[in-house]
Amino acid sequence: MCMFTYENLRQCRQQADKNDTGWSAFFNYLEAPFILAMNIDTQKDQLAAHRRYFDSGMTRSYAFRLEQLKKLKRSILDHEQEIYDALHADLRKSPEETWVTETGLLLQEINHTIKHLKQWMQPEKVGTNLLNLPSSSYLYPSPLGVVLIIGPWNFPLQLLLIPVVGAIAAGNCIVIKPSEFAPATATLIEKMISESFPPELATVMQGDGAAVIPAMINTFRFDHVFYTGSIPVGKAIYQLAAKDLVPVTLELGGKDPCIVEKDADLKVAARRITVAKFANAGQMCVSPDYLIVHEDVKGKLLELIKKSIVKFYGSNPAESGGYCKIINEKRFDKLISYLSQGKIVYGGRYNRQSLFIEPTLLDEVYPDAPVMSEEIFGPVLPIFTFREQQEAIDIIKRNPNPLSFYVFTGSSKKQKEWIEKVQFGNGCVNNAAWQFTNHHLPFGGIGQSGIGSYHGKRSFDVFTHRKAVMKTPAWFDPDIKYPPMKGKLKLLKFFLK
Ligand code: NAD
Repeated sequence: MCMFTYENLRQCRQQADKNDTGWSAFFNYLEAPFILAMNIDTQKDQLAAHRRYFDSGMTRSYAFRLEQLKKLKRSILDHEQEIYDALHADLRKSPEETWVTETGLLLQEINHTIKHLKQWMQPEKVGTNLLNLPSSSYLYPSPLGVVLIIGPWNFPLQLLLIPVVGAIAAGNCIVIKPSEFAPATATLIEKMISESFPPELATVMQGDGAAVIPAMINTFRFDHVFYTGSIPVGKAIYQLAAKDLVPVTLELGGKDPCIVEKDADLKVAARRITVAKFANAGQMCVSPDYLIVHEDVKGKLLELIKKSIVKFYGSNPAESGGYCKIINEKRFDKLISYLSQGKIVYGGRYNRQSLFIEPTLLDEVYPDAPVMSEEIFGPVLPIFTFREQQEAIDIIKRNPNPLSFYVFTGSSKKQKEWIEKVQFGNGCVNNAAWQFTNHHLPFGGIGQSGIGSYHGKRSFDVFTHRKAVMKTPAWFDPDIKYPPMKGKLKLLKFFLK
């Protein structure tokens, strides 16, 4: 029987390359399954090494966790300029915006975690019921094991590494999967992680998520999957994880409504909405997706938003050093398709070559248009009006469970009403998007916009299991708990009710 091996194939290829036969594409095609199989084998070895390292107990001590957090912090500070360069290459982000939305946030998370780590790691004493006295009861925080963290491209550094901070702090081993659509940042993250940590503690897996991630989850049981990204891929990850009962955190997207009541401070509202909508060229999960403004103040608010756009990005944002590009042609084409689904009342210019789309205000949008059923995730802001609160709620209900919700109003009664009536993950009153930057607030969605939350102490909790333990002394061992039970009902009713 003739066995055709990868070695035979490589020899044929070398011969063909030497003779320059032009068959290299054909050999690429033949080699692909061999290379994929080898990658899977390497991956399996790597994942098994993580498991052994975790089982060795190395990651558990306070001193070890602290040291890793400090190494990560050092790495971020040492690579500050490279981070600016990578974010500029991927999204044309300015150093200032990179600091506020990426590096600074990440450092804040690390500093906060370092400050509180010792306290978070302590066992917590909880109460004990009458039936079990004089036992005492405790929650012992313990790491989950080997966890997978998957990030998106829009804030490719912090959305990937803030969960990593929680996972390290909680004593886990970590597989990190950056988005392939922000390649400069992904490459830099791989370099930073491999320089800072032993490979058994943390590794970066690069590549097409649709191929790499199912291959990993199908061959190795992770102890948790933390995913940030779109709803459809989130559902696919949930299904992959469910097969082995792997718990997940899903940080997803959605359509985030922004309400402006007629009693709002319109000048402040316009500035805050503008920055939250057009920072990162609107490619933010917490950007206001669409605006619902009280009819009486629509004209004034739109004029103020237009003024803010010019003030922030100039009259030609294409030349502004502070305005980001769209991530790729696919997303660009999708966003451009929205421009014809309403009346452009401001902006609308674009350039496919430079992936530029101007901040754009879209009026007279038909509520059934795709721009109002898909997450926009770009610098296009549809505008609706309302007179009665119910009209605005009916619009919101078309896309229920937004990740974020914003309301601008001077009335505390209205604030309370809006917060009660809309089901959302997180939000702001008289502000937009900045809630993400407050690590004291858990960040996460509800329903379609996600499962679980993180940031600050919550990040530590996500990657921690609390072992519930009751300790019972030997000196007290009453007969009531032992058979025969006959005749003890009255006493049992006294102790357990
Ligand atoms: P995405 O879902 O396309 O990709 C995210 C990650 O999943 C990437 O690492 C990618 O490699 C991987 N992936 C892609 N296809 C996969 C598949 N079939 N199977 C397994 N993994 C796969 O998301 P994106 O386009 O990078 O990010 C945009 C979306 O993320 C938006 O919907 C946005 O609202 C959401 N988002 C949410 C948050 C949040 O914190 N809730 C933050 C940022 C972005």
